[in-house]
Amino acid sequence: MTILRVGVLALQGNVREHLMALRGCGAEASTVRTPAELDAVDALVLPGGESTTMSRLLQVFNLEMPLRERLAAGMPTLSTCAGLILMSREVLDGRSDQISLRILDVSVRRNGYGRQIESFEADVPVTLLGVAPFRAVFIRAPLIEHVGPDAEVIATFGSNAVAVAQGPHLGLCFHPEMTNDARLHQVFLERAASALEVNAA
Ligand code: GLN
Repeated sequence: MTILRVGVLALQGNVREHLMALRGCGAEASTVRTPAELDAVDALVLPGGESTTMSRLLQVFNLEMPLRERLAAGMPTLSTCAGLILMSREVLDGRSDQISLRILDVSVRRNGYGRQIESFEADVPVTLLGVAPFRAVFIRAPLIEHVGPDAEVIATFGSNAVAVAQGPHLGLCFHPEMTNDARLHQVFLERAASALEVNAA
């Protein structure tokens, strides 16, 4: 069987940390900045950053349409924070011109945790990971306000979902690349590989 090739959208954000986490899991991982680089990968990480800026850069780098086509063809994704905002069906408090890829069946509110707890960490149990909770780092995180029937909540904090799974996609409000815990990257690789019927590493 062939090996899964994973890309990290490298317009902005913690690109290097995601590459290191993926490679630490044994995956073949590379940066994606051009349509040709997108063509060369089977699955994609959309990192955190600033969703309005990433949205504009997707257009500047001529990646919006190729990305929409790959998503429509079922390319698996791991999206975190600003990446999750891009992947959501509905964005509240976004800019009217920001891109919504409308893949994940969630409504998110940008910066929805408000000013007082702009950034915080919490131990969050994740259903896909078994008993040991995941140390979740939230940075001006989006608040998932509604989860539709196509998405499955895999972690909650307080009364809100903070992570969802939907077919080959995982969407997280927090930054898994900022801890040394690569379990969510590993789960993403396994789910992507099984959706595409290739090896994860
Ligand atoms: N608040 C940012 C946005 O709107 C997301 C923050 C992050 O990715 N850490 O895009």
